[in-house]
Amino acid sequence: MPERAAVIDLAAVRDNVRHLVELAAPAAVMAVVKADAYGHGALPVARAALEAGAGWLGVAHISEALPLRAAGIDAPLLAWLHTVDSDFSAAVAANIDLGCSGWELPHIVAAAQLLNTTARIHLKIDTGLGRNGSTPADWQEFVRLARQAELAGAVRVVGIFSHLAVADEPARPETDEQLAVFMRAVAQAEAAGLRPAQRHIANSAGVLSRADTHFDLVRPGLAIYGLSPFADRTSKSLGLRPAMTLRTVVSVCKDVPAGQGVSYGLTYHTAGPTTLGLIPLGYADGIPRIATGGPVRVNGVTYPVVGRIAMDQMVIDLGRAALVAAGASMIGAEAILFGPGDDGEASADEWAVAAGTINYEVVTRISSRVPRVYR
Ligand code: PLP
Repeated sequence: MPERAAVIDLAAVRDNVRHLVELAAPAAVMAVVKADAYGHGALPVARAALEAGAGWLGVAHISEALPLRAAGIDAPLLAWLHTVDSDFSAAVAANIDLGCSGWELPHIVAAAQLLNTTARIHLKIDTGLGRNGSTPADWQEFVRLARQAELAGAVRVVGIFSHLAVADEPARPETDEQLAVFMRAVAQAEAAGLRPAQRHIANSAGVLSRADTHFDLVRPGLAIYGLSPFADRTSKSLGLRPAMTLRTVVSVCKDVPAGQGVSYGLTYHTAGPTTLGLIPLGYADGIPRIATGGPVRVNGVTYPVVGRIAMDQMVIDLGRAALVAAGASMIGAEAILFGPGDDGEASADEWAVAAGTINYEVVTRISSRVPRVYR
């Protein structure tokens, strides 16, 4: 085991995907593996998800999709976020499905014509999130142009999709409004002669809480990694298991007197004689600098981080009692920041609270300096 590692439990990924496949059926599952599979490693997670029954993969950028194809993954694969500089030709040549909000259509048509082939596209409608996707006002003209390109043989409209804004708060009414806009958009596309086989709008929260968002295909990301999108529901209560454990070992352990200042700015001073433990993970590893107080589990006890988190390291105050109980120095003792909770360690959700953020960000920002270990 490397001295510092994000241990990824691919069996957990497979179990989570199987659970989502069951929940979503008869809709198919697109495993969202953008951002290096939310920090878990795109290729191993993609393979695990496909093994467990996901029929599709989804990423934001073409540059994230191409390496999956290069690694031999031939499952349907959608990339949905582009710029004028995106490599549409490479995507079309690699048989990558492309999300299209409107402005991309001529670029995709040009790429298809250059390659003398037909590009597979999913038309995106902005049903209320206010990000990419055609506005409802522009939709009619967009579907007309898409149909024209389809008749010319340049594209095949495989799907129509949108993205939910508040599905993680099931009591809010905006999801119903988004669904109504979505269904109108599908009807307009059909009236224009399009027959998209894949209608999709559900993220993890949609898959887990609302069957009426499932349509033909669902796009869970977070839930695949075993994390809950809901502030008031644990992974376990949703039948999910967190796949990432962030662990290291205590690198330095030393006795200090009362009043010892700790880390930059000396924002923490020891209350009495105590033992400090140095944890070799810091903000360059993706631990938010703001997360002082975050929980670290060592030898069955949880200690809060004291003082400021630095680039490479952080400090926990072990107290004298823990040291005596351990019988010796704790140098080399395993230190777990978060994981599934089997050894009483905290969850990524607890680190999210310490950092004032969401669990998505906690796992996604674990940097490439931390080796991923698969089991
Ligand atoms: N679909 C799109 C378009 C997304 O951008 C994302 C992630 O933000 C997802 C699906 C997956 O969302 P979640 O991780 O909440 O399941």
